[in-house]
Amino acid sequence: MKITDTIKEVRENVKAWRTEGLTVGFVPTMGYLHEGHQSLIRMAAKENDRVVVSIFINPLQFGEKEDLDNYPENFEHDRNICELEGAALIFRPSREEMYSKNFCSYVDMTGLTDTLCGKSRPNHFRGVCTVVTKLFNAVNPDRAYFGWKDAQQVAVVKRMVSDLNMDIEIVACETIREADGLAKSSRNVHLNSEERKAATILQKALKLAEKKIASGIRTSRDIQKAMIEMIDSEAGVKIDYVEIVDLETMKPISDIEAPALIAAAIYVGNTRLIDNYIYGI
Ligand code: AMP
Repeated sequence: MKITDTIKEVRENVKAWRTEGLTVGFVPTMGYLHEGHQSLIRMAAKENDRVVVSIFINPLQFGEKEDLDNYPENFEHDRNICELEGAALIFRPSREEMYSKNFCSYVDMTGLTDTLCGKSRPNHFRGVCTVVTKLFNAVNPDRAYFGWKDAQQVAVVKRMVSDLNMDIEIVACETIREADGLAKSSRNVHLNSEERKAATILQKALKLAEKKIASGIRTSRDIQKAMIEMIDSEAGVKIDYVEIVDLETMKPISDIEAPALIAAAIYVGNTRLIDNYIYGI
């Protein structure tokens, strides 16, 4: 496995593979890898001849008061995971490599980014679309792998790839969870033991939604209300949003029809956690 911090070297490697007729899978990450990332790399290795993993904490997708400076890192551990899962190349650029001094071009999106995380984090998806485009241009993969845990990100990236005619297949992979249901996240490391216990309320509320939908309830408002009540009953937890939207457009729906996204974001102490249940795929 190779490790590089330059776009030039990424291009040289991928070009050489392409000359041999090999296919390339790509897994963009911000590092501090866990079993969720690991499952994406594994899937990419299964479906492609070579896999590139990027590790880059993208400043553009963090708001001013967010946790950019506090984002966890452990490159030794990340390297072992990439090696274990059969990645061929880690691309680990510096901020300067990605954003030169005079950088001023952005990829922006309307509509899809007005709800959920896009509403709570105003410039987040502008940062995501810009960095994903830059990474796609550097790596030039056949397929790129994203987690359903960030379902709005999946919708946004799929839309962007289609709107801008990027010749890349976007593969969405299932959310990997802890034994008690909490979605794996690099940010879970910030939770103290009390917060860690309280955090499970997010998955419990989504399970409640799943149960209600399975029992035939289709009114978004009723399900939202039950979820909010449940989350509010947990001390130390604050709701950012609980929304039910169309899986593709991210627009709120009043009656639940498949495929629908039931998504929630909460603060447990200072840590913001997101998770979702997807009905109908
Ligand atoms: P991040 O490092 O948080 O930017 O995540 C990189 C990729 O891993 C994104 O496509 C995420 O959706 C995905 N991911 C993060 N957590 C999980 C998880 N628990 N299960 C599956 N995929 C995940």
